[in-house]
Formats: sequence, C-alpha cells, structure tokens
Amino acid sequence: MVFSGVSSSVKMGKIVIENLYYFSENPMLDCNQFIIVDKENDELALFDAGNGLSLKGLIEGMSKLGLNYEQITRVYLTHEHVDHVLGIYPLIKLLSNSPPELFAYGETAKILRKGDESKIFPGNLGISPGMFGLEIIPLKVNDLKVEETISIGSEFIFKIYYTPGHSLGSICYYESSKKILIPGDLVFAGGSFGRYDFPGGSLNALIESIKFVNNLDVKYLLPGHMNISDNGNQQIESSYRMVQSIGNYF
Ligand SMILES: [Zn+2]
Repeated sequence: MVFSGVSSSVKMGKIVIENLYYFSENPMLDCNQFIIVDKENDELALFDAGNGLSLKGLIEGMSKLGLNYEQITRVYLTHEHVDHVLGIYPLIKLLSNSPPELFAYGETAKILRKGDESKIFPGNLGISPGMFGLEIIPLKVNDLKVEETISIGSEFIFKIYYTPGHSLGSICYYESSKKILIPGDLVFAGGSFGRYDFPGGSLNALIESIKFVNNLDVKYLLPGHMNISDNGNQQIESSYRMVQSIGNYF
C-alpha cells in the first residue's frame, strides 16, 4: 500500500500554550491537529481528524505528552477534505464504547452525514478510501452555526466564522481572549493560503475570507498545514497581500 510507510510515524506534539497542544502533520496528505484540554471535565477536544493512517502516530504523540486518547470526547472539523476528516472513522471504531461527538459546519456536516465520497476526495488526487483501509460510512454530526460560541472548559471560548474559498464547508475557530485562530486551510504561515481549485473553491471568496480574518486580533495562527505561528496577524497580512496580487492578476 502506497501510504503504509507513513502510517507508523509518530505525530510529534508540542505545547502551544497551557492546555493547548499542536501535533504536526505527517508528510503525505495529512493535516496538523490540535488538542485542547478541558480541565474541569477531564476531557479532550480534538481539532481536525487527520487522514486516519496517522491516528496511531497521533495517539503515540499524545501519550508522550501525557494525553490519553480515550479522553477525546469532541472532534471539531474545519472542513470536509480527506486529509482533515478520514481519521474520524478509525477513531470512532477505537472509541466505540463512547465515541466522541462530531462538530462541523454546513456542507461539511452534510457531506459526512451522507458519506459523500466524491466530496471528501476532491478533484483528481488519484486516491480512494480503500488506499487508507477505510470505508466511508454515514456519520452523526452536530451542526455548528455561524457566530456560535463553543466552550472547552471555562478557559477556551471559540467563536465560529464561516470562511469559504478553499471549500464550501470551511470555517475558522477563533478564541478572542487568547487570540487563537484555527483557520483550517484558509490561510497558512509564511504568506501562503489555501487552494481554491477544488469543488466549491473560489478565489474571490478566499480573498474575502482572508480579509475577514485579517481584521481579527490573532497571535496564535494554527493552520491545517505547515508551521504554526505566534505572530499571527503578520502572517495573515502577508498571505492577504499574496492572495490579492493573484486576484489582481486574473
Ligand atoms: Zn482542504
């Protein structure tokens, strides 16, 4: 199997701020994942699920930091793409006695409820669920609403913003008191930004969404790929300039 070599690598974690952990993506078609500790309830919230093959590595990386995957009670998704959602299926199997609740917005929630493979595996990536040893089954998903707030313990309170452009179901999670932005694949550190050539993607929507998050006060930028940053606004500003220059060009 093409991806088998990748599956065994540990997802190395590190602490971003107290009770917030970052697990960097595996090299092939995986995503960054974030864990927030709900101290009051002794539970963990996971942001994005990875590609499934990386789940073992995530569990190992978590255990190195003293985090127990059995305490994951909630999974928050940024959008519907394969590298962000496939990990749900093996995680639910693994925690079948008390599976975590899933949360997503709009199209992402709909696609996962339907088990719509063609939307989870966009374009001509040349991949299929079988390559990941998975079967896409309909899932029970809770709908997040725009501008809804979600609490993880009393310490982390995120607001949901709808930020299309990369995909139809793309949202950002924003914690204003700690200045944390979890933007999925909207905007990355180092002046880059999400692809807009997948189904439902739009350059104009991407520009508008990046413009929107550029107006938030962001210290910790925790994107779906590549590095995280603790000078978020500077990174978002440079991505905004880059994406605008493309917009002008076309
Ligand atoms: Zn994506």
